[in-house]
Amino acid sequence: MKPLSDMHVHTSDSPDADIPAWSLIQKGRENNLRGIGFVAHLDLNPEDFCYNSFNADTYDESIIRARNESEGQLLVMKGLEVGEPHKYEEQVKNLVNYSDYDFITGALHSVENIGMILGKEAYSDRDPLEIVEEYYTETLRMVEISDIDILAHTGLFRRGLALAGLRYDFNEMQLWPEAIDSILKVLIERDIALELNTSGLRRAEKITYPIPAILERFRELGGTLVTLGSDTHREPHVFFGLSRGAALLLQSGFKEAYAFVDREPMAFGLA
Ligand SMILES: [Zn+2]
Ligand SMILES: [Zn+2]
Repeated sequence: MKPLSDMHVHTSDSPDADIPAWSLIQKGRENNLRGIGFVAHLDLNPEDFCYNSFNADTYDESIIRARNESEGQLLVMKGLEVGEPHKYEEQVKNLVNYSDYDFITGALHSVENIGMILGKEAYSDRDPLEIVEEYYTETLRMVEISDIDILAHTGLFRRGLALAGLRYDFNEMQLWPEAIDSILKVLIERDIALELNTSGLRRAEKITYPIPAILERFRELGGTLVTLGSDTHREPHVFFGLSRGAALLLQSGFKEAYAFVDREPMAFGLA
């Protein structure tokens, strides 16, 4: 398999992750990665564990040190993972200048009137499928208006469902085909990449976000922009599932995945 770029790697610049960027570069070189897209959480939702934790200056320093450590052997990309950008983008843009970043990833961690969907709490007193349906409705709103390059971890609610002991083996492509199609079409129209996030492979649910059926549908509709992301936060899961993710992309008909530099997509071959 050709060297891959992992476009979703957290560093010790976020409170829920603990590996410094320079150290991840060493690991990336050991693992023959082509590039690392670093992300720092930028969350302005007070419910979020990472609320208000972002510091642009220290993150910059981390990335500079990572670039030095790479010695030009590996592409270092500076990204942000913005939580609910459709709600907070204006405030986020007062804090940071998006043109200073290689890419902006949009993440839905919390659903309106429901709350955080990645833990088990939200699922205790509502029909879980109703929550999932609202998650997709809000994902559509997010991708329609947000200034983002990548849609992160579509289907992250499976983590919460698994933690709550609920079923997660449904196929939303069958349950709400029109809603999912609408999201995928907006991604294509707006040149937003669909991320294949492999972190679910290391959790109880043992499945990617999104599920392969959504990837396949994206390809059918003419989608080409896809990224691979491990959502690395700490040991022992650094870059977990990337080659499995690349194999899934190939199976779904994608021959290339993308990295982002200066907010422009750059293709790399998967096989
Ligand atoms: Zn996230
Ligand atoms: Zn993340």
